[in-house]
Amino acid sequence: YANAPVNLREALYVARDHGDREFLIYEGERRTFNQLLDEADALGAALQGAGVGKGDRVALAMRNYPEWMSAFIAVTAIGAVVVPINSWGSPADVHFAVTDAGAKLAICDQQRADAAGTLLQDAGVQVLIARPADANDPAGLPSFVAAYAGKQPAHVDIDGDDLALIMYTSGTSGKPKGAASTHRALCQAVYNIECFAIAAAMTNGDLITAMLERGHEPTSLLAVPLFHVSGCHAQFLVNLRGGRRIVMMYKWDVDRALQYIEQERVTTLAAAPSMALDLLEAEGFDTTDTSSLFSLGVGGAATPPRIRSLLNEKMPQNFSGTGYGMTETNAQGSSLTGRAFRDNPGTSGFPHPVMEFRIRDEAGADLPQGDAGEIWVRGVTVIKEYWNRPDANASDFEDGWMRTGDIGYFDEDGLIYLADRAKDMIIRGGENIYPIEIENELLEHPAVKEVAVVGLPHERWGERVVAVAHLHPKSAASEQDLIDFAAARLAAFKAPSQVFISDQPLPRNAANKLLKREIKEGLPER
Ligand code: ATP
Ligand code: MG
Repeated sequence: YANAPVNLREALYVARDHGDREFLIYEGERRTFNQLLDEADALGAALQGAGVGKGDRVALAMRNYPEWMSAFIAVTAIGAVVVPINSWGSPADVHFAVTDAGAKLAICDQQRADAAGTLLQDAGVQVLIARPADANDPAGLPSFVAAYAGKQPAHVDIDGDDLALIMYTSGTSGKPKGAASTHRALCQAVYNIECFAIAAAMTNGDLITAMLERGHEPTSLLAVPLFHVSGCHAQFLVNLRGGRRIVMMYKWDVDRALQYIEQERVTTLAAAPSMALDLLEAEGFDTTDTSSLFSLGVGGAATPPRIRSLLNEKMPQNFSGTGYGMTETNAQGSSLTGRAFRDNPGTSGFPHPVMEFRIRDEAGADLPQGDAGEIWVRGVTVIKEYWNRPDANASDFEDGWMRTGDIGYFDEDGLIYLADRAKDMIIRGGENIYPIEIENELLEHPAVKEVAVVGLPHERWGERVVAVAHLHPKSAASEQDLIDFAAARLAAFKAPSQVFISDQPLPRNAANKLLKREIKEGLPER
């Protein structure tokens, strides 16, 4: 990739090579590569016509719609900066992100336009509606691009150092931060994902052969939000370049997902761990023809051991994998797939060549191999900075390195193991406790569907370990059953002293990650 493009217009328009093959299936709509790129061309020209130029920010406040994709291609191709907005947010959240980024224009779906359109217009942002309820709405995209059908945007010089994207983090540990990336970082991020896919294929020849023998066209089910790296980079951008089909869902729904897998012969699904569990434990899994599904990519949070056992049981020849990364690294910086994934439980893989890792103590000094500490990263895919966040820029970046806030360690083979987020760590009587370890044990209990472990204040120990569990619909277990189950499997100081069973599913964000702050706030003070 030494001579590969460092601007997205060139990197993405290679998809013209895939021409009239099918790229995107969404509800009843089907688009070829050319059709999507034609839509992007017209929109790029229309945006230029409306005065959007290099460096201007354009917000995309939409759920997963095809227009999200054409808008991403169009905006970056004219040198403007894409600002994906978390469309799960409240109108105030949408307003915050759009104005924080200083966007000139926001392309919203009808729902976002109804909820936040007036707020945005009052802030001086031009609002366009991707799929207006009224096709003739003058603020609708169809009217906006009508005069530009078949046109191409005027050429703009784009350099690898120019800003391309401000993508907000998931907001798991606090307020989302705008992660600002250059064209070079994004191009390299996409090449990085391509390289790791090639490497995984090279070391799993037998599994690849088995997949090819099944004869299904590579088809990915995109069921995570486009406004996070998992949907945007790891699925949309790589599949666009690579010429693979995408079946896109508006939102995750396990029954619809099973239907799509059977009808469209889906071969791969990238999922948050909770989605992977949903799928593999669904009653419909065993009665659906899932024989085309050959790979499940699990990431964004720790992979519970239960996923591995279910994979081995239900998808015997699978080519699944996991990785570790974040918005700030523009997707995964380590991974492992196939046989390596099966043989090395608990790890998030080998570092990719683009990414350097260091494990450091609180003062920022390197720790010896094997010790757990904060993970720092450096590399060409890492963001340039947080947008409008001088505080975070000052605390999180040093000499080209970025601190991740995650705790982990390397084993002697060079595999990375994630313990947990530093912010979620519980310190009980001076002992560090990583909630993920306890959650993984409790997830082995057949009644437990999901569980969160948090620390509550304790007079003597500083903190004590508490678990909140939500059970499978037809299962039963008492709070004491779960306390005993954990006590039998964990060191005494790690075992929860109290368990709450919640009738409601636990609160999660758009990336399907547990919102521990909310869970903690919901607990009675006992
Ligand atoms: P915020 O930064 O706003 O709190 P977030 O960190 O969840 O939200 P993302 O960038 O979407 O936002 O997620 C990256 C984080 O997800 C990582 O820093 C890490 O904590 C967690 N993560 C990602 N991959 C893994 C993995 N394989 N195992 C465990 N945790 C992971
Ligand atoms: Mg983060």
